[in-house]
Amino acid sequence: MHVSLSEIDPKNRIYCNRSLNMRNIKAVGFDMDYTLALYKPEEFELLAYQETLKKLVNVGYPESILGWSFNTDHMIRGLAIDKHRGNIIKLDRHRFVKVAYHGFQELSREERRSLYDASLAQSYEEPDYALIDTLFTLADAYLFAQLIDLKEKQPEHIKKTPMEIYRDVRHAIDLCHRDGSIKLKVAQNPGKYIKRDPALADTLLRLRHSGRKVFAVTNSLWDYTHVVMNHIFGNDSRQLNFDWVQYFDIIVTGAAKPSFFMSPNPLYEVDPETGLLRNTDGILNSEAKIYQGGNFKQLHERLGVSSGPEILYVGDHIYGDILRSKKELGWRTMLVINELESELDALAKFKDEFKRYEELLQLKDDLDDELQKNQLELEQIQKSQPKTKSQKQSSVEQLQASIHSLLQKRDSTREALRRSMKKYHQNFHPTWGQLMKTGHQNSRFAAQVENYACLYTSQLTNLLNYSPNFSFRSARDFMPHDFVHD
Ligand code: IMP
Ligand code: MG
Repeated sequence: MHVSLSEIDPKNRIYCNRSLNMRNIKAVGFDMDYTLALYKPEEFELLAYQETLKKLVNVGYPESILGWSFNTDHMIRGLAIDKHRGNIIKLDRHRFVKVAYHGFQELSREERRSLYDASLAQSYEEPDYALIDTLFTLADAYLFAQLIDLKEKQPEHIKKTPMEIYRDVRHAIDLCHRDGSIKLKVAQNPGKYIKRDPALADTLLRLRHSGRKVFAVTNSLWDYTHVVMNHIFGNDSRQLNFDWVQYFDIIVTGAAKPSFFMSPNPLYEVDPETGLLRNTDGILNSEAKIYQGGNFKQLHERLGVSSGPEILYVGDHIYGDILRSKKELGWRTMLVINELESELDALAKFKDEFKRYEELLQLKDDLDDELQKNQLELEQIQKSQPKTKSQKQSSVEQLQASIHSLLQKRDSTREALRRSMKKYHQNFHPTWGQLMKTGHQNSRFAAQVENYACLYTSQLTNLLNYSPNFSFRSARDFMPHDFVHD
């Protein structure tokens, strides 16, 4: 089957930053959580949030927080937590802070600028800032904002600093992921928390039938991986079975990405029946399929690939899955961005509003140009030797009047533009606006996607829309001077 690209619904397309010919790919690997397994954030993140509240009460936060609720739509990926100031911020690709909230209170433009514009040397990274770069950390940001809000409104309830609050939240959420508070509940009822995509098995089978090796590398441990994979590949029975294993050549659990892409880690074979680990001497046994730990070298050997660019790895986490595998090993990468679907919906729905916004932007630019022309002319006249003094006076007065009126028009257009941009962004998200843009610049998140993901798409089963030998081509790069002869 060959469909032309324009026939594929934009929501189901694969977008290409860096050209990639699938003929050169010998193995395709997948991350599990939020890549193969798509969670329902309104259930899964809510569970993480509720369990975290209990842990926070145990370490001294007021019991009243147990009555709090979590709006799972409020935070978006790509935000950063300013741990010292108690703020949540959205950055553009030049690292300017374009939206900032203290708890749930928006900072004015002046406050935002005075706090952040002077600190451009900041990288906005750990340890002072935390990035919300997976859907798992939406709860971190929301809880942090709630606790900052409580601290502002009722300081007698929370005496800790924002940094201490952040540490407590992070620690409590981390514990929930590790002590079974979340995973045991998911294991009891996976269907409540994890979506199932009927096209998943076919997507992997098609790759295998085309001669590619297919593997999974997940940070989840074997027992949880088994529960999740068993569910997503369609087994409804309460009895777990191993049918899903057939879709993979190799499964690496407990991989500790991103360190898996860099440093040696001990490698164990997993006995799927008992879950017990068997020591290895660091070599992937050609019979066994399921491992824990190890690193990329053993995987390369077992897959029979001689260099990184023969692997395409599909994941949802820029730092955990994509950045290191690409930078250190040259793996080709595909980022799964579930949010792309709603982003594309809004782009289509508000196309006309965007056009009006662009017209307003053009008007403001024209007024700016006209203003500059008048100002230069005025400077020249003021410096020149006129034939008569009164002639000079009248030209100066005319220009001054014109500048005055242009300034008024320009300022009111600028204000209208600001309002129109805010309104346009609110169509995407009422608080944070468009995921991939801040103002009309790319957001920092978009810049990272551009830098580290060769391909990106809303869900991995979109691969089914393309032949396994498809050659993905990137659009031409443009710089401002490329347009001068248009
Ligand atoms: P992957 O995406 O398949 O590599 O798996 C991610 C794993 O990380 C899942 O098992 C998550 O439960 C786990 N995880 C997510 N957030 C945290 C955390 O804050 N602490 C510990 N584990 C986490
Ligand atoms: Mg993941």
